[in-house]
Parts: sequence; structure tokens; C-alpha cells
Amino acid sequence: MKIKFNPDEEIVKVVQEGLKRTGGYCPCIREQNEDTKCMCKAFKEQIKDPDFEGFCHCMLYYKEK
Ligand code: SF4
Repeated sequence: MKIKFNPDEEIVKVVQEGLKRTGGYCPCIREQNEDTKCMCKAFKEQIKDPDFEGFCHCMLYYKEK
């Protein structure tokens, strides 16, 4: 299992700027709480699934099997 940044640097830059603006909360979700702090609960749960391969919601991270 490997977690990498999106190979598209432009997307990484935009999402990281969004995270700076929100103080670390997911820039793609309106709610700001413990579950939406990057790395958010939704992505952590996807990571736990050994069959999951793909991007987090914001496309900042990519999980390989
Ligand atoms: S892991 Fe991805 S979807 Fe989750 S908060 Fe971070 S950037 Fe957003």
C-alpha cells in the first residue's frame, strides 16, 4: 500500500493552497470539523480498504493497492 501525491503538480498546488486558506480543513468540503481535517476521515477509511485504489475526494492524494 502506497500513498502518493497526485502526479499533476498543478492540482497539488491548488489543493495545498486551499488547505492553507482553510487552516488544514478539506478545501473540497464545506463542513469544518475533526473529520474534515486533512487527512480526512473519509480518505482514511478508503485507505483501510485493501481493495481501494484511487484519489481522495480533492485529488491531492492517490492510494495504490
Ligand atoms: S485527504 Fe484529500 S479529500 Fe481528504 S481532506 Fe485531504 S485533500 Fe481533502
